[in-house]
Amino acid sequence: MRIIRTIPEIRAVVGAARAARQRVGLVPTMGAFHDGHLSLMREARAHTDLVVVSLFVNPTQFGPNEDLASYPRDEARDAELAGQQGVDILFAPDAAEIYPEGFATSIHVTGLTEVLDGAARGAFHFDGVATVVTKLFGIVAPDVAYFGQKDAQQVMVVRRIVRDLNLDVRIEACPIMREPDGLAMSSRNIYLDPAARQQATALNRALDAAAAVHANGERDAARIVDAARTVLADAGIEPEYLELRSNDDLRTLDRVEGDALLAVAARVGAARLIDNHLLKGGTGCDAPC
Ligand code: AMP
Repeated sequence: MRIIRTIPEIRAVVGAARAARQRVGLVPTMGAFHDGHLSLMREARAHTDLVVVSLFVNPTQFGPNEDLASYPRDEARDAELAGQQGVDILFAPDAAEIYPEGFATSIHVTGLTEVLDGAARGAFHFDGVATVVTKLFGIVAPDVAYFGQKDAQQVMVVRRIVRDLNLDVRIEACPIMREPDGLAMSSRNIYLDPAARQQATALNRALDAAAAVHANGERDAARIVDAARTVLADAGIEPEYLELRSNDDLRTLDRVEGDALLAVAARVGAARLIDNHLLKGGTGCDAPC
């Protein structure tokens, strides 16, 4: 596996692959790899010829009081893990390569970004995500880009950008990878001390409880959400948000008739964690990738 740090170099490698009629897969990441990231790389490896993983802790998607400075970074370990998945290129630019002096453009997606994590963290967050993902698509020009359903709202925002800006890339959303006790894998789980790590399991248990109520035929959104809220309260967790929204445009729902996204964010110990379940219309099951 090759590590590339500059845009001209990655362009040359991808251009040569494309000239050889190879399909290019991109997995955008911020590093500190866990099996969630690796599952996206495996998916890319299985379906594309040249697999590019980008590793860039994007400063513009962090707020001034967030964890940009302390975000876990271990490029050598990440390179080792990516290599083991058969990744061809680790694209690890520095911030000046992506945001050179005078950089002045921002991509803003209205509507979808104003709720859930956009409301909780601020508009800057999805503007930062949208801008860096659009840049990565411009730099790498992948045929397919792989994202995790863990960040369900992010997937929706990226799909909307692709649609609205007519970008020639297919977006694949892959299932949430979890620890054996159900905690969604996250680079931020390392912030959890043992007590908080135990407490954090309540997030997925809460979502499971709501999914069970839904699977039993409950369609009233407030009652479904209440089932999750009770589990969180029992674990001493006050969510930043816990909301059931339509899975197409994130509108609020009174009743759940089609696919719905149950999304939660909460501070647990030193970490801010997010998780979600997709409630499939009629079945209550998580959707496959
Ligand atoms: P990050 O490095 O946190 O920006 O994540 C990079 C990609 O990995 C994003 O598309 C995430 O949605 C995805 N991802 C993060 N955690 C998980 C997980 N537990 N399961 C599946 N995908 C994940």
